Amino acid sequence: MKKKSKIIIIGGGIGGLSLGPLLSNDNFEVEIFESEPTLGGRANIIKEEGFTFDTGPSLLNYPWVYEEYFSNFGKNFYDYVDLIKVDPAVNFVWRDKTNLQLSSDINKLSDEISKFCPNDRNGLIEFLKSSQKKYDLAFKNIVTKNSSNVLSWLINAGITNLLSLGLTNSMYNEISKFFEEKKVVEALSSYSMYLGDSPYKLPGFFSILPYGELQYGLWMPKGGMYGLVEGLIKLNQEKDVKINTSSKIKKIIVEKKSAIGVILEDGSEIFSDIIVSNVDSETTHKDLIGINSKKYKMTPSAYTFYWGINKNIDSLTHHTIFLPDNFKKTFDELFSKNEIPNDLPFYISIPSKTDSSLAPKGQSSLFVLIPCPVISKFSEEHNIEKAFELKNEVFNRFEQNDIDIKKEDIIFEKIYTPHEWKNNFGLFDGSAFGPSHNFSQIGPFRNSNKSKKIKNLYFVGASTTPGTGVPMCILSSKMTNEIIQEELHK
Ligand SMILES: Cc1cc2nc3c(=O)[nH]c(=O)nc-3n(C[C@H](O)[C@H](O)[C@H](O)COP(=O)(O)OP(=O)(O)OC[C@H]3O[C@@H](n4cnc5c(N)ncnc54)[C@H](O)[C@@H]3O)c2cc1C
Repeated sequence: MKKKSKIIIIGGGIGGLSLGPLLSNDNFEVEIFESEPTLGGRANIIKEEGFTFDTGPSLLNYPWVYEEYFSNFGKNFYDYVDLIKVDPAVNFVWRDKTNLQLSSDINKLSDEISKFCPNDRNGLIEFLKSSQKKYDLAFKNIVTKNSSNVLSWLINAGITNLLSLGLTNSMYNEISKFFEEKKVVEALSSYSMYLGDSPYKLPGFFSILPYGELQYGLWMPKGGMYGLVEGLIKLNQEKDVKINTSSKIKKIIVEKKSAIGVILEDGSEIFSDIIVSNVDSETTHKDLIGINSKKYKMTPSAYTFYWGINKNIDSLTHHTIFLPDNFKKTFDELFSKNEIPNDLPFYISIPSKTDSSLAPKGQSSLFVLIPCPVISKFSEEHNIEKAFELKNEVFNRFEQNDIDIKKEDIIFEKIYTPHEWKNNFGLFDGSAFGPSHNFSQIGPFRNSNKSKKIKNLYFVGASTTPGTGVPMCILSSKMTNEIIQEELHK
């Protein structure tokens, strides 16, 4: 009998965990090496003093991606993960105490949007129609297509398709075409923050991001986002993927420009036919191979706070985004000047509102995410003192917006500065979401799922295609699997 080819996956983040079962299904011997004691990468878990927090992702969208992924194995996603719908979805709040609550219930959403400007009721219908076309086109022809070069990508995508996606417009201008009220445009275009640039610079194509959330709803797995990681771990076990935690890879062994194995921190060497890195591409090249790679503009880093609060919080829903007064100035400060914006935008999630098991009875688990410049671009130091300054600003804003939480209500606290993000998960320059998604960094311009420099080396996860976010990392595993199969059957 022919010996199975062996594949090593470095990193047990969402990308690595979703690739393992696909490869194992195709009859490879697959082994994952994860440096941390727990799996999930950025999508990790903190469980302390009765409170449960997701470390990173807190919004689950595009459930169809997970349904399709599990169906590859003849499995029903919902046998692995219980999803709870979160509605109202995200609530946007301004300093003047106005707010906009998104919902996938289109009637509710229409009433909410038209409270600012009645004409925007029609604008919403047009926005949804136009975005649906873009979304369908993007996912059918572009997002998940491997392409070895720019020309084949352009041909596959179709030039007219690309133009109709709004690639030549900015995300802000694309959304402005449909709504008169500035606050609606600000709310929907603020999603650009997670894609790594200002909505005035990112392509209009990304208006499909808020659309996807409105169309397919916003969800949370039971037990928090980590419920998804647990579902993936179970699938890996069923598919006989061997998983090693607390097993940091020190080097990828490269001989004659071909990856042949890995060296662990204890010096032991393991050889394999193929290596897939789920670690950020720049960290992989620089630290694990010792070569330079293309320099990407990175998405912001983040200060994240995990607070156990001694009470229920009535003045906030599950997801809230606090937006600044001067939207453009704030994005310029963050993305062009590499400053922490003066008028701080930040995101709050209270998952215990949707799943009460995540906090002791009558108490709340609360997560705060404050975007900030990556480590090398910030002219000041990112450190715990800076974290406490930002915490003060969050509480000033709470007071201004009548949010009933005081510092004294915090009975448990953990803080990640950009350095924790970099050191704990290998995130290049502390960037929370990987390389940003400007036109010059997507599709064939992004780090390819197959190394162009080293034979038998592949990538999976946020730093490769299609891009960042949990569903995109799942899709990247499909793309990496396809490209490995193609290579082997050449
Ligand atoms: C604060 C924050 C909030 C977010 N919110 C959302 C959200 O709401 N919704 C959403 O969809 N996405 C969100 N994201 C993005 C999402 O979390 C990521 O896109 C996704 O989790 C990245 O997964 P990945 O597969 O690229 O791997 P990663 O999570 O980066 O995992 C890589 C793994 O490799 C391991 N590793 C690193 N170096 C080594 C080594 N030398 N040896 C062995 N193992 C190693 C790391 O420990 C890690 O486990 C958020 C991210 C952050 C940081």
